[in-house]
Amino acid sequence: MAKYTDADCRLCRREGCKLFLKGDRCISPKCAIEKRPVVPGQHGMGRKKATEYSLQLREKQKVKRAYGLLEKQFKQSYEKATRMKGVVGENMLSLLERRLDNVVYRMGIGDSRSESRQIVNHGHICVNGKVVNIPSYIVKVGDEISIKESKRDLPKFKQLKGIKIVMPKWLEFDSNKLTGKINALPKRDDIDLNIQEHMIIELYSR
Ligand code: SF4
Repeated sequence: MAKYTDADCRLCRREGCKLFLKGDRCISPKCAIEKRPVVPGQHGMGRKKATEYSLQLREKQKVKRAYGLLEKQFKQSYEKATRMKGVVGENMLSLLERRLDNVVYRMGIGDSRSESRQIVNHGHICVNGKVVNIPSYIVKVGDEISIKESKRDLPKFKQLKGIKIVMPKWLEFDSNKLTGKINALPKRDDIDLNIQEHMIIELYSR
């Protein structure tokens, strides 16, 4: 029986933008958004006029799906952000970026956030020398992120050796030593997704 592989791509088509859920495929011509940039489903071509609420909801769904979170996990990030000093929307994005699974993805260790989450879940990642297998773990400035010594010979990690990885400037990763560091907290400009976070805050403030 053929395996259905398009589910992630349907999420991108639903949100009308690339959410980068499938690694290399996302930057290839096979990307579904490049091939078929319409909302999936029978009525995808002719939806009703969007209301303010529906736009806010879509913005929230877009970010939640990009980071691969469930509603409860996403809302927890928002609630935590409201208790922090500063701008709530920026705090929320900073918390999402600082999740360990996202950091592993940004460092190029995993091809997608879902693969990076699996890498963390399987206990392949250390923070300051200790295995951390909690994808939602929030990293701090100065934390050292590394691939567990005994797992470095796995083909997935061997192929990283020596390659040049492009990543946001708040992070560094030495692909020879398979070790990286959190140099700073992520700033709003460091987050490359097209997000209007104020709409999410408005949605949750209703
Ligand atoms: Fe699929 Fe990735 Fe393209 Fe999204 S960005 S449609 S997940 S290939």
